[in-house]
Amino acid sequence: MKESLGNLKKAARELYLLEHTQATVSWDQETQMPDAANEERSDQLALLEGIMHQKLTSPEIGRLLSALGADDEKPEGKGNFDIEDKAFVREMYRSYSRASRLPEKLVTEIARQTGLAHSSWVEARKNADFSLFEEDLEKIIELNREKAGKIGYKDHPYDALLDEYEPWMTASKVEEVFGPLGKNLADLTARIAKKKQVETSFVEKKYPVDKQNAFGTKVVEKLGYDFGRGRLDISAHPFTTTLGTNDVRITTRYDESLVLSGLFSNIHEGGHAMYEMGVGENIQGNILAAGVSLGIHESQSRFWENMIGRSRAFWEIFYPDFQKTFSKQTEGVSLDDFYKAVNRVEPSFIRVEADEVTYSLHVILRFEIEKAMLSGDLKVSSLPDEWNRRMKSLLGIVPADDSEGVLQDVHWSAGLIGYFPTYALGNLYAAQFMNSMENQLGDVGKIVRSGDFSSILGWLRENIHQYGRVYPAEKLCRRVTGESLNPDYFMHYLENKYGEVYGLRGN
Ligand code: ZN
Repeated sequence: MKESLGNLKKAARELYLLEHTQATVSWDQETQMPDAANEERSDQLALLEGIMHQKLTSPEIGRLLSALGADDEKPEGKGNFDIEDKAFVREMYRSYSRASRLPEKLVTEIARQTGLAHSSWVEARKNADFSLFEEDLEKIIELNREKAGKIGYKDHPYDALLDEYEPWMTASKVEEVFGPLGKNLADLTARIAKKKQVETSFVEKKYPVDKQNAFGTKVVEKLGYDFGRGRLDISAHPFTTTLGTNDVRITTRYDESLVLSGLFSNIHEGGHAMYEMGVGENIQGNILAAGVSLGIHESQSRFWENMIGRSRAFWEIFYPDFQKTFSKQTEGVSLDDFYKAVNRVEPSFIRVEADEVTYSLHVILRFEIEKAMLSGDLKVSSLPDEWNRRMKSLLGIVPADDSEGVLQDVHWSAGLIGYFPTYALGNLYAAQFMNSMENQLGDVGKIVRSGDFSSILGWLRENIHQYGRVYPAEKLCRRVTGESLNPDYFMHYLENKYGEVYGLRGN
């Protein structure tokens, strides 16, 4: 057994290095590469992808995993290993079995179809005409159904897809959490809508991009992002990528007229990066050295972005500097007015621009629709009507056309079904973790007001980051908070914060 484990680690190490090589090539494509180089770059990436797939699904890895006794019932194998080695076998088995169950023909077909669908989605969105995308989406749903069948599931095909992004999570568990959450969020949104809206004209002014960059860079560094092991660049869509144990990079984008969007992007990606930078030395350099699930990953970015970055205490510390940097734009704007502007709540059509309260409603809508499409309960042709009906019932608004409705996200065209729930799960985990943090460290606002964030980052490292993928999300959540995922903490956090921002109390 020991020898098999050693050999599996050797093979996994090569995969790990290849993955980071691919990340490097891909980072360059998104940030530095001249457009003209795109065609060969796509070939380079496809080649690496193919080599990695071959390595991962090789008979050798299959043999080693079965020698270690890993199977569906016991993915961690039967070896008498320590907790990290068991987790290592479990994660290798997971990757291997998911990849080897998909026939090459299906993988190629999905790649081909998503290529086509991307073009038709771009066209459809540009023309606000869903019918241009309908046929391609139908094929993508069909292929995803086939994929789920090959991977296997107990209750719902959605489980097999969701598991790729949120390992060991099921659709029924998500439903159990999203059901009451949706009602509570819709109710809070409706109560806020009855109140006087906060003033935001001053954050819509023009803010020079170079100053935004200087300020945003300073903020992420102060929060704990280590520029000695990473860097910040500009890309079309902000992202975080790990190129090596000591190389976790973030990107952002700035727009003169969207000062808050750029800043909160920086903080958000910084949160993702600090997670990956914080994995324990004992698991560095192998498959465990990464976020355990997209939901937990998102909990780290949203914790820093929303719970810290949009808190009053944060702006007590940073507003004087912000005001000095942008004196013309913020002239006569008090801290209180600025804080409220940062936390404006309003039902809107576009998910990525949504505030903290309404954001998860956009996700719940997508989750329910994906599930219904996959099971065949919802025909793709009825999708726009269904979308609008649900928008009306959850957010009380109906988009004027499909480009600000059902066509707004790239995910479905890219074949990503089962991805959306992780965004909302992140909000829930973040609030639940913060509750535990406060139980142990005391008032987080007070720490933030001190301007020294190291005890907050230290707590996250000790309780979450250092473990990487050692504990599955559910187990990690129980270890950190003493219970499994519970949406009450998030609602409690929102009620408290927005009760104060909008003066909801006493009504
Ligand atoms: Zn994120």
